[in-house]
Amino acid sequence: MDNIKEELADCFAWIGALANLYDIDLEAAFLEKYPDKCPTCRKNPCICTD
Ligand SMILES: [Zn+2]
Repeated sequence: MDNIKEELADCFAWIGALANLYDIDLEAAFLEKYPDKCPTCRKNPCICTD
């Protein structure tokens, strides 16, 4: 489990580094792709539990 935690931390750091490199606003990019909707079902409100 600690291994996965470290790997995820590495991924997160890598994503942050790439975003910086390409001057991308990660938060804006995320909200643009998932605008106020559930990222899984794409609905608002979420219907995943139905
Ligand atoms: Zn959902």
